[in-house]
Amino acid sequence: MTDECGAPDSSCDEVLREVATYLDGELTDAEAGKVVEHLGDCPPCKDRADLEACVKDLLRSRCADSAPPALIARLEAFIGQQTGA
Ligand SMILES: [Zn+2]
Repeated sequence: MTDECGAPDSSCDEVLREVATYLDGELTDAEAGKVVEHLGDCPPCKDRADLEACVKDLLRSRCADSAPPALIARLEAFIGQQTGA
């Protein structure tokens, strides 16, 4: 576990692990604030967070069949990154 304050890049892994919890609304205000702040400064993490939000929406609504092919491709790439790391 790393905790390098002031070095946004170093906390990407930590933020990405917390994104799912953040999207579930289960982080404290302080924790959520750190995630939001990081996402504001880190487009790659913001993109991951957006994709994760899409995945959650799809899983909740179970309307994956109606998702645009481009989105499906991005999600598959996203999932591959998550499981292949
Ligand atoms: Zn990041």
